[in-house]
Amino acid sequence: MPQTILTVSYLLASMLFILSLGGLSAQETARRGNFYGFAGIFIAVAVTALSATVTEFSLLMPAIIAGSLIGAVLASRVAMTSMPELVAVLHSFVGLAAVLVGVGNFLQAPHTGGHTGGNGLGAESLSQAAAHSLMMIHDIEIFIGVFIGAVTFTGSIIAFFKLRGSLSGSPLTLPGRHWLNLAMVVASLWLGISFVQSATAGIDPFMDGVAPGLVPLLLMTAIACVIGVHMVMAIGGADMPVVVSMLNSYSGWAAAAAGFMLANDLLIVTGALVGSSGAILSFIMCRAMNRSFVSVILGGFGTGGGKLAASSSSTGKAPVGEVIAVEAAEVADLLTAAKSVVIVPGYGMAVAQAQHPIREITDILRKRGVNVRFGIHPVAGRLPGHMNVLLAEANVPYDIVLEMDEINDDLPTTDVVIVVGANDVVNPAAQTDESSPIYGMPVLEVWKAKTCVVLKRGMASGYAGVDNPLFYNSNSRMLFGDAKKSIDAVLAALRS
Ligand code: NDP
Repeated sequence: MPQTILTVSYLLASMLFILSLGGLSAQETARRGNFYGFAGIFIAVAVTALSATVTEFSLLMPAIIAGSLIGAVLASRVAMTSMPELVAVLHSFVGLAAVLVGVGNFLQAPHTGGHTGGNGLGAESLSQAAAHSLMMIHDIEIFIGVFIGAVTFTGSIIAFFKLRGSLSGSPLTLPGRHWLNLAMVVASLWLGISFVQSATAGIDPFMDGVAPGLVPLLLMTAIACVIGVHMVMAIGGADMPVVVSMLNSYSGWAAAAAGFMLANDLLIVTGALVGSSGAILSFIMCRAMNRSFVSVILGGFGTGGGKLAASSSSTGKAPVGEVIAVEAAEVADLLTAAKSVVIVPGYGMAVAQAQHPIREITDILRKRGVNVRFGIHPVAGRLPGHMNVLLAEANVPYDIVLEMDEINDDLPTTDVVIVVGANDVVNPAAQTDESSPIYGMPVLEVWKAKTCVVLKRGMASGYAGVDNPLFYNSNSRMLFGDAKKSIDAVLAALRS
């Protein structure tokens, strides 16, 4: 394929990715955004596979077909509640790919006092000094790409197991863990310098008979893998959304680094887009969790018992009071008498798939003139935008789905709040109990409404593992059971 067609196709794909991000930023345009993203990636993969850089097309095709089939089957089968795990696994693939590209790129051109690498630097046509500088820059690219890739790879795997519940959600707080992190980063930097020096000098400082620089590169990779594990193991409970979005950003930078190593402009642009949009998402998440963005980037996740010290093992004060259980018919009566209703969905709504009967209740109440709105917390559910996606799927009108900041001021004048399978995001301890791990996190102030009805199966805590005093308030009512069954029963009672 001529280079001009490749360049123009890459430009088109980059534009489609930018349009995709723009589309995905609002519910109304998300479907279109998805389509743009799909079209962009299709063009990118197709023209790259047909480009002159691919010499073994017969080897590449089976891999593309097998990968596409596995991806299609997995994506169509995955439950909405398992999406975060899938996303974490996909991030780990990007990290692993960056490591493999880096090490493969390094080994492709053995170091005998210098190499041109796989990025076509064309060092032979340059002066020796210029070629030396270019080789050094390329080695630095390899080092950075492999480092970010390894941290992303193991960090995402730990995130996967934590989100899946296979690993405990409580944080691993080793003594002096910040010093440990610092020591590992310093050791990686030292190995990086040793890698670049030995790769350009053509002598490995650790072992004879191997490609010069290979040993420091592999040692650094092993240390970066430990950093990834340690960093995510140290995160507990409610902090996981920040970790997921941060790993999303890291995976983008790992892809951009792979783009530099392969001298592939599209990979650089795409990686930078994912990296920066992930960083913006992390920033939004940090604000939602009342976290310092800088401390998150540096891996200083709320330790030291400060505000929102989710990494501490404390579960806060035990709530006191009496739990008042109600039946579905009583909830229907409350709704019938109400003039304004706010529905707050959480992870339990996703588990129960209760969004469709909720929309039916919304329709009935709105027809009766009740002001019904939804209040969405930024970290409700298990991935950013989780609740918005489910409500959109059930055709809930976008204009009645409001963000936490938009609805909180209206809650004191609301007659009934229905909390459907939400827990941490409506926990008043975040405002009142300084010993609570979620202290400082902004929450939906549902307890300020006249009556708050909570739908859940029992008295279990939420993802952060902390008790919720909301359930014991005198104006709270508990409707126990699976959220879908409870909502169906309320719907039946409303209809009758
Ligand atoms: P929570 O995890 O706090 O609570 C969910 C509640 O749903 C549980 O208490 C559970 O109680 C109830 N539940 C579960 N299944 C059902 C069911 N079938 N029917 C009815 N109720 C059910 O959810 P929230 O949405 O309030 O908060 C999200 C939490 O997840 C936050 O801590 C957030 O930090 C974290 N998180 C968010 C991510 C994101 O990106 N949004 C990513 C990772 C973590 P019971 O068992 O008694 O029914």
